[in-house]
Amino acid sequence: MRIILLGAPGSGKGTLGERLEGSTGFPRISTGDILRKAVREGTPLGRQAAAVMAAGGLVSDEIVSGLVRERIAEPDCRKGYILDGYPRTIAQAEALERLDGDRPEVVLAREVKDETVVARLGGRRVCGACATIFNVAGRAADQIGACEECGGPLQQRLDDSEAVVRERLRVYKEATAPLAGHYKARSTYRTIDGEGHPEDVFRRASAVLDAERKAAGGRKSR
Ligand code: ADP
Repeated sequence: MRIILLGAPGSGKGTLGERLEGSTGFPRISTGDILRKAVREGTPLGRQAAAVMAAGGLVSDEIVSGLVRERIAEPDCRKGYILDGYPRTIAQAEALERLDGDRPEVVLAREVKDETVVARLGGRRVCGACATIFNVAGRAADQIGACEECGGPLQQRLDDSEAVVRERLRVYKEATAPLAGHYKARSTYRTIDGEGHPEDVFRRASAVLDAERKAAGGRKSR
């Protein structure tokens, strides 16, 4: 089975994806994480992608589809995988169908208000040492210190400034939101309220996935 997480930047796809990775045993594939690693390591791909990402734009369909093609060919994806941040355009959805079209698919779409996204991402900090994610929204400046897990330095992602977040939202509405129509016509498509507590969202997502697995019944799960 393939699980596709759709939703605006900051809708909590990453958190849900990590929980589902634990409960299903399917690996979570985040194109954003793969691209950020390439940028950190200064690979040719990273150097190409860095400026587009910092401005809130989209990396080219060919590049990200190539990354996904390589990743889903790995043995741990044989039974299933969770896509977080891909596809983001209709062209990417079509590329995925060409790459691995026969696999049963569930699309979980999270809906959140723009202002929730701006507040969440504006307050997001990532530990530079252990990569734990914190939210400092509402905390006084002197309380925003070191990582509570390892004492490492807290950093803001370059693309989490308010101006870039608004650009990411604009790009999402223009390029990615149309995917809902694409998937409603051809997949199991379910909407989840993204304003809820992560634990509630996880339970709702799990219920959808269980129902879908039962419905798939005797069909061999891949
Ligand atoms: P978010 O969902 O919070 O915006 P991601 O970590 O998924 O963040 O992505 C960060 C950035 O990486 C995006 O703004 C974009 O520049 C690039 N990116 C990630 N996935 C894709 C994709 N499927 N297509 C094009 N660009 C992508």
